[in-house]
Amino acid sequence: KRLKPAFTTTSICGYCATGCQLKLHLDEEGRAINLSPQAGYPVNLGMACPKGWQALDPLDSADRATVPLLRDPDGKMVPVSWAEALETFTTRMKAIKEQHGRDAVAFLSTGQIPFEEMSLLGCLFKFGMGFLHGDANTRQCMATAVTAYKQSFGFDAPPYTYADFEESDVLVFIGSNLCIAHPILWQRVMRNKRNPKIIVIDPRATETAQAATQHIALKPKGDLALLYALAHCIIRDGRTDAESIARTEGFEELAAFLQDYSPAAVAERTGMSVEEIEALAHTVSEPGKRVSWWWTMGVNQSYEGVRTAQAMINLALITGNIGKPGTGANSITGQCNAMGSRLFSNTTSLTGGHEFAYAEHREKVAAGLGIPVESIPSEASMAYDQILAAAEEGKIKGLWIIATNPFHSWIDSGRLEALREKLEFLVVQDMYHSTESARAADLVLPAAGWGEKDGCFINSERRIGTLKKVRQAPGIALSDFRILRLIANAWGCGEMFAKWTDPEAAFRLLRDLTKDRPCDITGIEGYEMIDRMGGIQWPFPADRGEDRPAPGEERRLFSDGIYYTPSGKAKLLFSPPAELPEDTDSAYPYLLLTGRGTSSQWHTQSRTGKSDILRKLYPQEAYIEVNPADAARLGLKEHDPVQVSSRRGEMQAFVYLAPTVKPGQLFLPMHYPEVNRLTHPSFDPHSRQPNYKACAVALKKV
Ligand code: SF4
Repeated sequence: KRLKPAFTTTSICGYCATGCQLKLHLDEEGRAINLSPQAGYPVNLGMACPKGWQALDPLDSADRATVPLLRDPDGKMVPVSWAEALETFTTRMKAIKEQHGRDAVAFLSTGQIPFEEMSLLGCLFKFGMGFLHGDANTRQCMATAVTAYKQSFGFDAPPYTYADFEESDVLVFIGSNLCIAHPILWQRVMRNKRNPKIIVIDPRATETAQAATQHIALKPKGDLALLYALAHCIIRDGRTDAESIARTEGFEELAAFLQDYSPAAVAERTGMSVEEIEALAHTVSEPGKRVSWWWTMGVNQSYEGVRTAQAMINLALITGNIGKPGTGANSITGQCNAMGSRLFSNTTSLTGGHEFAYAEHREKVAAGLGIPVESIPSEASMAYDQILAAAEEGKIKGLWIIATNPFHSWIDSGRLEALREKLEFLVVQDMYHSTESARAADLVLPAAGWGEKDGCFINSERRIGTLKKVRQAPGIALSDFRILRLIANAWGCGEMFAKWTDPEAAFRLLRDLTKDRPCDITGIEGYEMIDRMGGIQWPFPADRGEDRPAPGEERRLFSDGIYYTPSGKAKLLFSPPAELPEDTDSAYPYLLLTGRGTSSQWHTQSRTGKSDILRKLYPQEAYIEVNPADAARLGLKEHDPVQVSSRRGEMQAFVYLAPTVKPGQLFLPMHYPEVNRLTHPSFDPHSRQPNYKACAVALKKV
């Protein structure tokens, strides 16, 4: 077999929000035969993690969905034509709508598809089909960051650029195991030549904590109290930045609130001594030092994630660590297109960085898309958990799941099996017919995957990059874009989407909608320009003269001290820490932490689990990290089989003796299907993001 490429092209990796660019090696027919990381791209600088290197493997898997499958009266899934699949889809969804109304059908989509497809889905479902409720798995990932930024800055605006990893003097990571969750970004930290202090605040001695200059093994969910105590000390000692505070609202109220959060008052809750808290406060407020705050899922996936994120934002604002090199309160999101979903998916926000509630936004979007303004609802969608609760109550009867696997990934996942019985019609649109969700479906629509279609992703630092079709989807599987256009025609609203001829035409429509919004990208001509410029960070307006960034320039937000709120000032927001939703007791004496276990697997393993190489890098049988002292007390040895149980379910795993978890705590990687049978369904009240990180469990030998 010839391995020398005839051509090459580039594509953004389709897993995490780092947004590495890969160089795809093509044969004479334009089919990808191999890949390597792209050397000149400003994100990954020639590096990729194992998932990126093996990105082509999942396309060749034997369990690809190649034809539509429909459940027959005997319960068997049988192949059908696209014509029959589309007829079934529209007939049954329309019947539910006629009988039960527009609130009776919902979709659950993803941060894994290009934003052109996300937006088409949201526009078709709401404006064309006339339904109201749809959400994405981004609710599990970065809804907290979105809400925190919107409330504090007036727009969902991560302020940083990846160069800040290299330009910071003090980097504080909270709830972020960057080494394995975003390994290329960790390499950017390692390129920092300023001899930085790298502080990791995490209950576990994670890979990142072990590589840091300081690890603070905080008590689980002691982070919010600790952040308040740091701000208390900084204000008490006058180590604030008056100029930056003048650009905020609510400083007096914050200072009064923080009176109760002295180091002595929070020491017990955080598990830290007063001296340790005072020393940390000193480190993060040293005059002349560039301090950056970074968080990932340990904060986002929490019952008080929004206020925790905002406590970091507050610290950045009161110390003047924002809008300058090496600073910021910076959310590193999870999925390849998380930022695209945030701006364009048309779920809880109106596409193009708008809001459903504002009449002028609806009028602008309607005019841009050439559709009647009455077709755009003024209400936002229910959030993911509310959609599932409505399905449990029998109010939602039809559910359409696109490129996500909630039967594995949703918190307290056992509930979905009971909920399944309540649904009249479950459609799953996916690359594979084998996921837990696809196996529960009435209809499976076979979709092309990454590498089999065109479009754009937007990464964590707001950089738009393109992905390319370098393989033919198997069988009669189609891109999500094609499937959605076929559904539009079958539904009878195809005319409304006549301008959405292909992904790049959709890109131009959506680009024009962003005019005068903070995420204005009207200066981008098209895909070729994005590739030529090494990706483009928003904002990139067409007509702002000197404000328009130069090609290749990395740019952070708020260097002018002007925020997106009506007053132009950032808001300092806070509220008292809440109690753990489910603490340990005598029946369930261990606190279970969950999270990413490896850089070689992605989420539910539905794609990365198809790669022989990636499987060899990670145990296929579930393991649980147990502190040796707890293991000794329970008579457990390395690799003993154990049962882990919570009030909601149980699972089996093998013991991995790990002094990296504290006594009384356990850690399970999220990649195994049974893990979320255990997790406790509690949610942040502002963002509705699930609290995956702490619940009470029991452990026993089997
Ligand atoms: Fe880069 Fe993330 Fe892809 Fe790994 S998974 S290659 S870190 S984008």
